[in-house]
Amino acid sequence: MPQVTAFAAPREGAPLERTTIERREPGPLDVVIEIAFAGICHSDIHTVRGDWGDQQYPLAPGHEIAGVVSAVGSDVTRFAVGDRVGVGCLVNSCGECDGCLRGEEQNCRRGAVGTYGAIDRDGTVTQGGYSTSVVVTEAFVLRIPDAIPLDRAAPLLCAGITTYSPLRHWRVGPGSRVAVIGLGGLGHMGVQIAHALGAEVTVLSQSLGKKDDGLRLGADRYLATSDPETFRGLRRSFDVILNTVSAPLDIDAYLRLLDTNGTLVCVGAPPEPMSFDVSHLISGRRSLAGSNIGGIAETQEMLDFCAEHGIAAEIELIAADDVNDAYERVLASDVRFRFVIDAATLG
Ligand code: NAP
Ligand code: ZN
Repeated sequence: MPQVTAFAAPREGAPLERTTIERREPGPLDVVIEIAFAGICHSDIHTVRGDWGDQQYPLAPGHEIAGVVSAVGSDVTRFAVGDRVGVGCLVNSCGECDGCLRGEEQNCRRGAVGTYGAIDRDGTVTQGGYSTSVVVTEAFVLRIPDAIPLDRAAPLLCAGITTYSPLRHWRVGPGSRVAVIGLGGLGHMGVQIAHALGAEVTVLSQSLGKKDDGLRLGADRYLATSDPETFRGLRRSFDVILNTVSAPLDIDAYLRLLDTNGTLVCVGAPPEPMSFDVSHLISGRRSLAGSNIGGIAETQEMLDFCAEHGIAAEIELIAADDVNDAYERVLASDVRFRFVIDAATLG
């Protein structure tokens, strides 16, 4: 088994450290990718801190991967050495169930295989993108359009698709009134994509500290949730509210902001349960929903959409040795708007 350098958590809650992990020998359908950049998603932090249950360690997170193809198996038809490619949150699925056939590999009935911390179809535990290379079956490799620099493309593979998919599913377009709660990694992509789809976009952030950035990214309004007047003034104002917050929220306060037939879509995944008053759904036929990343075809569609509209992630590029500090800053909502690891520093 080839050994590659990685940054991994040795056990739950421990700082990540430089180590080596195994990658499988490439099979006929595999693409070997030399990783150039890996985004830091809040899900990486939830996972290695045990928020979402027990994991196998050491665990190298990272499901926002951008790089260049360095080798291909004999049966690979869609990729060649030198291609600019990406890998997101999924690296395998059954390919046969109704979910997979609909292009929703994330809803595979036999269980889609996550990019890290999951059991792959060959029985090995997957390891993520905080490393120098990865081997992925061709069907789960995305093409990164030339118009998007690789470092700014990496976060699209999770933050981009996780916001694009629900905005498309709930038919956001010209005339839609959309609110995005939380201007972090997901939120700043949600604002850009909703704006590019033609919606009127409002950011609901804890403070006005990132207002200038939010407006520059395409928001029409930027309001602070710390101000009670925000909630009074926005009653029945939105068709879709996208909740990207990593912590529990007062769901009732946001349901009241939906107009008739409006939907509050939760993509933020806090470890704690949240409760709500069903009367806010009954009144105005409102919906409370969730959404999980997106399928492979839709991820390619999102990448092409971003290229066409000149959209990419806003990033702070960091060295691998700064990962633990970056985690603390993400937890403090102190990031504009995604940390991206320069894999050249993994060394
Ligand atoms: P992030 O960069 O940390 O952004 C989250 C934002 O939420 C923060 O920037 C902050 O925005 C706001 N926030 C944080 N703590 C808050 C609190 N206590 N109260 C109110 N607002 C708070 O995280 P991310 O990478 O975008 O991920 C966000 C969440 O989505 C995580 O739970 C992650 O696991 C989840 N996720 C889900 C999917 C999916 O498929 N559903 C995919 C990826 C990630 P302001 O400073 O603007 O208030
Ligand atoms: Zn993610």
